[in-house]
Amino acid sequence: MAENKTTTTGENNLLLVENLSVTVRNSGKKLIQNLNFSIPKGEIFGLVGESGSGKSLTATVILGMLSKSLEVTSGTVKLGQSEITSLSEKELRNIRGHDSAYLSQNYQSFFTPFIKVGKQFIEIIRCHTNMSRKEAKKVAIHWLNRVHLPAERVFNSYPDELSGGQLQRASIASAIMFRPKLIIADEPTTALDVLTGERILDLLCELKEELNCSILLISHDLRHIINRTQTVGVMYGGQIVEIGKTSAVVADPIHPYTNLLLQSRLKLSNQPPLELQTMLGEPGLIAEEGCPFSKRCPSVMKSCSNLVPMNSIGTHHSAACHLVKAEREERYVTH
Ligand code: SF4
Repeated sequence: MAENKTTTTGENNLLLVENLSVTVRNSGKKLIQNLNFSIPKGEIFGLVGESGSGKSLTATVILGMLSKSLEVTSGTVKLGQSEITSLSEKELRNIRGHDSAYLSQNYQSFFTPFIKVGKQFIEIIRCHTNMSRKEAKKVAIHWLNRVHLPAERVFNSYPDELSGGQLQRASIASAIMFRPKLIIADEPTTALDVLTGERILDLLCELKEELNCSILLISHDLRHIINRTQTVGVMYGGQIVEIGKTSAVVADPIHPYTNLLLQSRLKLSNQPPLELQTMLGEPGLIAEEGCPFSKRCPSVMKSCSNLVPMNSIGTHHSAACHLVKAEREERYVTH
């Protein structure tokens, strides 16, 4: 298999995922296959793909929160100096919150509804430190201010007295107050209106600079990924089918799935498109053999029923598609 140049073992990596595979215990059903990617310190890596492609499951493995019904059958997940897949539950609890933090789309369920937000902050802080209540309140107010909330008012409010955007900001404050090295933001804007969602993503980028942390930004929406990430991995059927510097993938997508995702973005234009670009087949239709996208691919060919290795296109761009070879040959002839 060609080396995937976007995955390196360099010392600058905060997160290194190598050959990760996850299956359903006792059934052998593969949910994630041979994932390889890395996130350097201080960078944002985007993981994009439709529901069920394995994005959130990947996050679950990195957090060490895989359900007992699933198992890691191969590979490693290294966060800093820690090999996540081999840690005990107690060691993982120390890592979560300190080394890694999770932001979910279900921010409404992040806070217990009948307890004031401030009290919940104090409990979390005192659970991880030996601060007094007074000191913990100071920390909570600092971070609520830091995410641009009216800190005292939010601190003294019940969760249902806050808007969706305010609740998501409060959950961000809670996630970052121990200065994690890696923030996993899993569809953080899904339940928000477009403008509020954009502001939340801008806030995350701003905090990344301040905390000098890395972010794994998971989204089904390429618009969120394109302008905010340095590197992107496109997932389909539990596999990364294209990976590279975001600018290279967007400018020159090779995998037909990436291409279709890019074409189906809404664009501002004086001339509305005559027809919307759609994808063949139902979401989640995955071929068992060969290329997982072959049942929906407009460019499918005979060889696609064979295993497709990850092929390098350039120094920082790879795709698991037989078209890579055709593309290379075309470039060779043209130049
Ligand atoms: Fe399409 Fe074949 Fe490429 Fe898969 S390997 S994306 S089926 S052309």
